[in-house]
Amino acid sequence: MQISHKITQKLINSKNVLITAHKNPDGDALGSMIALGLSLKALNIKITMYNESPIPAKYGFLPCIDSIKQHFCEKENYDTAVILDCSDLNRIGKAAQKIDKISSTINIDHHLLNTEFGDFKIINSKESATAEIIYHVIKNMGVCFNKDIATSIYTGILTDTGSFRFSNTGISAFEICGEMMGFGAEPSKIAENIYGNYSLNRIKLIMKALESIEILNNGSLSIITLTREILIKTGARDEDIPGLINYALEINGVKVAVLIKQHMKDIVKNRGIDKFHVSLRSDGSVDVSSIASLYHGGGHYRAAGFDINAKLCDLRADLINKLGSY
Ligand code: 5GP
Ligand code: MN
Repeated sequence: MQISHKITQKLINSKNVLITAHKNPDGDALGSMIALGLSLKALNIKITMYNESPIPAKYGFLPCIDSIKQHFCEKENYDTAVILDCSDLNRIGKAAQKIDKISSTINIDHHLLNTEFGDFKIINSKESATAEIIYHVIKNMGVCFNKDIATSIYTGILTDTGSFRFSNTGISAFEICGEMMGFGAEPSKIAENIYGNYSLNRIKLIMKALESIEILNNGSLSIITLTREILIKTGARDEDIPGLINYALEINGVKVAVLIKQHMKDIVKNRGIDKFHVSLRSDGSVDVSSIASLYHGGGHYRAAGFDINAKLCDLRADLINKLGSY
């Protein structure tokens, strides 16, 4: 893909860059942040990596992961902010408005529905991962790849393609990952860290998640519900949840899978209303990003999500109603 020369120059000429991505970061958010961070550092540019959420333990193997800050320093005089893997600025979390005030903001993303925020943007929903776009940005900046950058890019592509299984897996995903191997990325080690290192609490959570599966709409809709009670009982954390929804989608005949997760905190008191994160997955016959956008969320054709304050029974009924026609 073509990267605008203007944006590459903007990055190269920056002096103090904030690099951030969506909260509850995945391998693409983290891999993209680190690959870009290391590349700008190689150009002697001062960088700060910021993410609101704790870093999932399975990504502890990524280079420089410990230098990602969870605290946004307002005193720092950033001239550029790069926002990665966010379809909308608010996906960053609490610091979104402060980051918006930084003099130049660059939005780099691969989501289908991007709000096109920012002063500069590189948005391409054909790329499997933001890490693919970052690969091109690094090339354009003339920075040499090394093992650390290669490991980070590889991780972003591996995780966002569901280990090269999802329909977004194009030739470029293999080509770039092959090239990253040439620079030292080790596929088996990376995969072992990400997929072979689960907590026992996650396994307990899987048991409860499977127990909760409901099959509706003549077998085309499946719902997993993770209540706060289940999360407390199993001791599971947010980082134990990614991937669980696939059990609901992998069932023969299921077109849309839903995972409703009650937040541990942020209870809106009274009226029985709670905060939930809803994940949606499709087998390819339904665009779940359009369903998520009905609830002010977003995502991709086959994977989307949103946050909502609601009563669990109302939310469930509304989802079943909206998904009933598939
Ligand atoms: P997940 O279900 O794993 O949380 O997210 C699946 C996809 O939906 C991801 O690509 C993610 O970026 C997007 N997504 C999840 N939650 C939200 C949300 O609250 N708002 C938006 N715009 N996108 C979301
Ligand atoms: Mn991504």
